[in-house]
Formats: sequence, C-alpha cells, structure tokens
Amino acid sequence: MPGLPKIETSPGAVDFINDASLTQLLAGPAPGKNLVKDTIAKSLAKEPLSVEETAILLRCNDPELLDDIYGGARTLKETVYGNRIVLFAPLYVGNDCVNDCAYCGFQQTNELSVRHTLTPEELRAQVLSLEAAGQKRLILVFGEHPRYDAEFMAEQVRIVYGTRNGHGEIRRVNINAAPLDIEGYRIVKAAGIGTYQIFQETYHHETYARVHSAHTRKGNYPYRLDGLSRALEAGCDDVGIGVLFGLYDWRFEVLGLVAHAVHLHERYGVGPHTISFPRLRPACGVNFPGLGSVSDADFKRVIATLRLAVPYTGLILTARENAELRRELMSFGVSQIDAGSRIEIGGYTEKGDSQISDREQFELGDTRSLDSVIRELLKDGYLPSFCTACYRLGRTGEHFMEFAIPGFIKRYCTPNALTTLTEYLVDYSSDETRRTAEELIRKELDKLEPGPLKDKLEERIRQIHQTQDRDLYF
Ligand code: SAM
Ligand code: SF4
Repeated sequence: MPGLPKIETSPGAVDFINDASLTQLLAGPAPGKNLVKDTIAKSLAKEPLSVEETAILLRCNDPELLDDIYGGARTLKETVYGNRIVLFAPLYVGNDCVNDCAYCGFQQTNELSVRHTLTPEELRAQVLSLEAAGQKRLILVFGEHPRYDAEFMAEQVRIVYGTRNGHGEIRRVNINAAPLDIEGYRIVKAAGIGTYQIFQETYHHETYARVHSAHTRKGNYPYRLDGLSRALEAGCDDVGIGVLFGLYDWRFEVLGLVAHAVHLHERYGVGPHTISFPRLRPACGVNFPGLGSVSDADFKRVIATLRLAVPYTGLILTARENAELRRELMSFGVSQIDAGSRIEIGGYTEKGDSQISDREQFELGDTRSLDSVIRELLKDGYLPSFCTACYRLGRTGEHFMEFAIPGFIKRYCTPNALTTLTEYLVDYSSDETRRTAEELIRKELDKLEPGPLKDKLEERIRQIHQTQDRDLYF
C-alpha cells in the first residue's frame, strides 16, 4: 500500500502482550492482606514489580489496603524523586496525518480539522515565545505523515536548539511521533533528541484493531509495539511508553505498560525512561465513546500502581487533566508535568487564553501559565525543576539506571533543580512567584548537609543572581 512504512522490526521482535494471560491475571481472587503488604514492601525496597505482582495490587479492593497502596506510592515518590517536579511544554509542529485514529482530532477524515505544518520561521517564533516564558524542555509532537520523516524531525530539532535569545534556550528536545525504522532513529538521535515517546494507545489487540483502521499505518499493532525496541537498537536509549486511558479496561492497560517495561529491560538492560498516561479528552469533529470511562478515582489508582510497579521510571501527568485534579494526583508518584501548554498549531504566539479547537488534537484541561503552575507547585511544597543535566552528561539509558541509586537524586537532581529554578526566578518569574520561592529554596538548602556540595551550590545560586552565568549543572 502506498505510504505504508517499510516493515522493519528489531531483531527477534515478538508480540509480548498475551491478552488472555493478562486478563486471567486480573480475574484472580482478591489478594490477602499479607500479599498486598509484601508487594508494597518490595516496591519500597525499590525493586520493580513483575506483571504478576502488579496484578496483585490491581485486584485489591479493600479500602484499607488501597490506602496502603496510596501511602506506599507517596513514600516511594518521596524517597526516589524527592519533592522535585520536572517541567516541560509540548510543541505541536504539524497536524497532517495519514491515520484515522477514532479518538483523535487530527484523524485524516476529520473535515473540521484545520491542517497546518509550522514553517521554519513559525517554529522559531513559537520557540522564542516559549523561551520568553522560561521554558527549557520541549516535546515536539507530530501527526503521522510521510512529510514528517526522520530527516524532517531532525531538522525541527536542530531549529529548536538553534533558536536562542538572551538567556532563552531550549536545552532538551523530546519527540512524540510515529514509530520509525532503525535508520530513522539514528537520524533523530544525531540531532540530539532526549526521549523518543510512542504511546501504544491500548495494549488490547481487539480494541487496538477497532480504533485504528487496518488500512492505515497505525493499524499495525506489532510494528508499533516494536517501535521503541528499534529505537533502542539504534542507540536512542531514552524512550517513553504510554497508554491512552479510556480506550479499554484501565487495569489491563496498566499490566500492558508494566509488561512493556519488563520486556525492554530484559532485552536491552534498560527500561523506559518515562511512562505517560493521557486520558481521553473531547476533540473537535470527533465523536468517540469512552470519555469519562476511567473515573478520577480509577486514574488515581493507575498512577499509584505504576509508581509502585516501576520505581525508577518517570511518570508524566499532562495538562489534559484539570488544575485541581493535577494538584491532587501529583503526590501519588508523578515526576514530570507540562505547564503553560498550548496545543493548537502555532498556539504559543496567539493572544489570549482560550483554545482554538479546530487546530488542536483534543481539549486541554489546564491552560494556566507556566508562572502560575510554578507558584502553585511551590506553595504545595514541590520543587519545580528544568534540569537537563543527565541527558547532557550522558547519564541516560543504562547509565541513568546505574545512577538512579540512593543518594544520586540528593547529590545531583536537587541541586540542579535549585539552580534551574533560580534561573527561572531571576530571568522570567513574576514578583509573587519569586517571593513564594524564596522560602522553599531556603528550606531546601537547610536540608543539605554542610560540606563542599552545599558550598558549591550556594555559590552557583549567588552566581546566577549576580552575573549573567547560566546553565551551571552538577
Ligand atoms: N501521531 C503520533 C502518534 O499517533 O503516535 C504522535 C502522537 S499524537 C499527536 C499524541 C498522543 O495524543 C497520542 O499518542 C494519543 O495517545 C493522544 N491523544 C490522541 N487523541 C487524544 C484525545 N482525544 N484525548 C487525549 N489524548 C489523545
Ligand atoms: Fe494521527 Fe497520532 Fe492523531 Fe492518530 S493519534 S490521528 S496518528 S496524530
């Protein structure tokens, strides 16, 4: 069929999702108290859970034990990640799409969708606007179209890195786009990408086939499932998986995500760097059932269970969710959020706060500015971070896993969060946010043991306040 990708899979590719066995695991009896407590204890010892162990947590419905699960997830988040929340923004580059995903506003047959691909000039304007707000980390998002091939994506990445103004610079560019072949991943890697994200959308084969037409590129389940294995073969060791919650039973999808993480770890010695869990949103011109099928309470369990199952994997909560819910969900294990997001093509240079639905993929739930999100995080005791050090020092993939050991976060992540937050406060923040941050920064510094690291950090914070020196990472 014209336009279909050359079907290249990674060596030894297998479809490791067995629907029947995952379904059977979920149909087992409600677990006893000791089993649930032992499973939580294993997570708290920072050991990843198997698919079977994750199913134990998912079969649990005893309110007291559920409280233990939430408490465990909170504790694990605190011990592995501390109170840091990494911030980023999505940048939609183009919404041409050859696919017809039943839930998405960019689906090929959506006549209400206004199609546009940013020109290089328009892309630079979007980046300048994001930099002027203080953003340092972006994820570029693309529909799936032959014009958005690996060379095109690599060029967009280079344009973003090359667009600077004063202290404004983007230091990490991630990608969320269609799966590539191995050579394609090499091309985008050479442009300096961070994470390559591909969401399987649903791990359930029958549901996948129902919502992704067989005549489209995306209709090929095993090709997509193997997408990040090819990325790892190509040396992109920083990959992100995800599910669109609302397409099928959320418990099954959590097992699918854990099975995927286990598979990548077994084959490549490295699990996914991040897991995303977008929940279905309304989209202009799309009439898709499933909205609201994963309740807020279920969604909270998705996050807490994933936190316990994959202790070292970053969890991303997007602005699809509203501000109030995001605030509540954050404590159960989220490590990254987007903020100040606009998802209409060209949205960052539009005036006003309202969304332009015929140019966006779905409606956002949280359209607050970066500054107000940062202020709320600070008030809630979180430490907003724009850190990009690991990726730039080669501490990613397998190496990242090595470094993700007790003490690492305190030694590197917290200091880098404090320096990047200070940059934000000095260069971009409102007075109110700056005042709110002062107390938290003091508290964080007080928590550090006296010694060379603390001295150096205090010196760097002074340096950012008093000089034009920036990007001082540990
Ligand atoms: N076109 C590429 C693809 O499909 O892999 C890039 C990703 S798409 C632009 C980003 C993600 O948005 C999709 O993978 C899907 O999970 C999510 N998405 C699509 N429609 C959505 C909707 N109505 N509500 C919430 N998320 C949606
Ligand atoms: Fe296209 Fe991706 Fe939307 Fe599917 S989810 S229609 S592939 S942009």
